[in-house]
Amino acid sequence: MEASLTARDRVGIQDFVLLDAYTSETAFLDNLRKRFHENLIYTYIGTLLVSVNPYKELDMYTQKQMDIYMGVNFFELPPHYALADNAFRTMLSEFNNHFILISGESGAGKTEASKKILQFYAVSCPSTKLLNNIRDRLLLSNPVLEAFGNAKTLKNDNSSRFGKYMDIQFDHQGGAVGGHILSYLLEKSRVVHQNHGERNFHIFYQLVEGGEEELLRWLGLERNCQHYSYLMQGNCPKVSSINDKSEWRTVRDALSVIEFSEDDIENLFAIIASVLHLGNIKFELLGIPAPVLQHGLTHKKIEAKSEEVHSPFSVDHAVYARDALAKAIYGRTFNWLVNKVNESLANKDSSRKTVIGLLDIYGFEVFSVNQWEPVPYFNNKIICDLVEAKHKGLISLLDEECLRPGEATDLTFLEKMEEEIGNHPHFVRHKLANQKTRKTLERGDFRLLHYAGEVTYCVVFLDKNNDLLYRNGKEVMRQSSNAIIKLCFPATEPDTKRRPETQVVTQFKTSLVGLTEILMSKEPWYVRCIKPNESKQPRFDDVLVRHQVKYLGLMEHLRVRRAGFAYRRKYEFFLQRYKPLCPETWPNWKGTAAEGVLCLIKYLGYTRDEYKMGTKIFIRHPRTLFATEDAFQL
Ligand code: ATP
Ligand code: MG
Repeated sequence: MEASLTARDRVGIQDFVLLDAYTSETAFLDNLRKRFHENLIYTYIGTLLVSVNPYKELDMYTQKQMDIYMGVNFFELPPHYALADNAFRTMLSEFNNHFILISGESGAGKTEASKKILQFYAVSCPSTKLLNNIRDRLLLSNPVLEAFGNAKTLKNDNSSRFGKYMDIQFDHQGGAVGGHILSYLLEKSRVVHQNHGERNFHIFYQLVEGGEEELLRWLGLERNCQHYSYLMQGNCPKVSSINDKSEWRTVRDALSVIEFSEDDIENLFAIIASVLHLGNIKFELLGIPAPVLQHGLTHKKIEAKSEEVHSPFSVDHAVYARDALAKAIYGRTFNWLVNKVNESLANKDSSRKTVIGLLDIYGFEVFSVNQWEPVPYFNNKIICDLVEAKHKGLISLLDEECLRPGEATDLTFLEKMEEEIGNHPHFVRHKLANQKTRKTLERGDFRLLHYAGEVTYCVVFLDKNNDLLYRNGKEVMRQSSNAIIKLCFPATEPDTKRRPETQVVTQFKTSLVGLTEILMSKEPWYVRCIKPNESKQPRFDDVLVRHQVKYLGLMEHLRVRRAGFAYRRKYEFFLQRYKPLCPETWPNWKGTAAEGVLCLIKYLGYTRDEYKMGTKIFIRHPRTLFATEDAFQL
């Protein structure tokens, strides 16, 4: 007894729900800290998994570890792969769809967690040669999408600059037979601008550092990042934790496995190189005659009645048009890339599949945030309305401002917000100290009071939002001989004269509605990631962790879980699975599923406080369910 107490004192407990003493935030933090120092980075709150980024390699992700976790009950082993395994087994036994939502701030370990889960499935699913093919592609889609969609930021050397939702499709036996990826809001502005100490997307540096001599010669590139304006905005082309050269090889090999043809690969890197040249104003590689592109980038076309008037841009406008074009080219090529990966992951067989979705919500930087957390699971309705309401919501205001290119600035947007929603109880605007200089403008913060706490937003929205592509720039792209550019800039694209394609926030919102629909039809599992310090070191910073425990809503979650009934099952599933345990329900129950379940659990001896009958059967404690499961297995 003493020995086990000592162990518990040392390593903490693995589920916050199980220990009565752990109701205060301080106790919560103590437990996380203890476990962190013992390299136990995972802790449950019921079935929710809390993960603290260890910032060092742990030897817990080995094949041996994965074997141990396959097919064991949730509480039999320390939390780790158990969540992934349980989602998988529930999917197989109930034949339904699931998703795992992974959230946390930038650098908290979301992407690593999603990769670990994917690896677990890759190893644990039954395999055949055909399935191995899909498995390899699923795994290799990661380095490819990370090369094009991740970048070094101040917070994270490998920060995802797009949101990613990935479905893994399974057949009846649990074999991974396909996959599908949705990407959200790639941070295109990074192509042309990076803050000090940050980089452009990895792929640019990989190509310049790792590309073969012959390739670079063909692309007209020099092996020197310093040469390219778009690579040097943050003045940080080399990062000690990143080996661009070897990453280049990984990405190049992965592209071949995912079945990109040599033509696709050539076209793709011609585009990447063109973006670099565009940053230095060189035009030849897009396969567009130089004078045409030059004219397109320096003149605006105004259509008046039957006439077309071409007037030259100011220098500022020309730079703006060039950057807009670079962003559009990169953004559309990224979408092409995702589609191409999806083609390779597509499952051709039409029999019914079940899926487990992995949602890696990116870049929620709590300390200098420019996104709201797009998770509709909290009661965040007031905030959602403030952001989304038609006409007077934050997004509508932003859209309106974007329709005034050249006139609208971050400041006018701030003023408009102040005017229209300044009195909203959840809107807090910071005073602008000095409205004249751009510098203070960037400090033009406003705050939203979210359910989980206050979040400060800095108004650099318009730049991010307003990637207005001058129409003639787009027309010029249509003349390209590069097959990917041709696909990305189709001749049939609807005219965007009235509503330019600039409203990325609106697009984001629209795609979030789509995502919400996708998620609503699935059973949720949650992983909450915590960043232990700001210096990317294996160190536990109490203040920082406490803050995240707060805004991730972990204490509230714990309270809800402690109130119990965390385990729920549809009556039909419950009855179907366990009816052999009771002579009255086996083999066929004549009444409703709910009556059958009641009869069944009475027979099994569930006490009154162990369960509740609602829209489903709710079970207070996992051990009740596990006892039933064990009886079933015997
Ligand atoms: P962003 O929102 O910026 O994309 P993120 O939450 O996806 O951030 P990750 O990229 O997953 O963060 O993690 C940041 C870094 O932390 C990783 O590159 C890795 O160095 C380290 N890290 C995260 N999780 C682990 C882990 N389980 N084991 C070892 N190192 C980890
Ligand atoms: Mg990430």
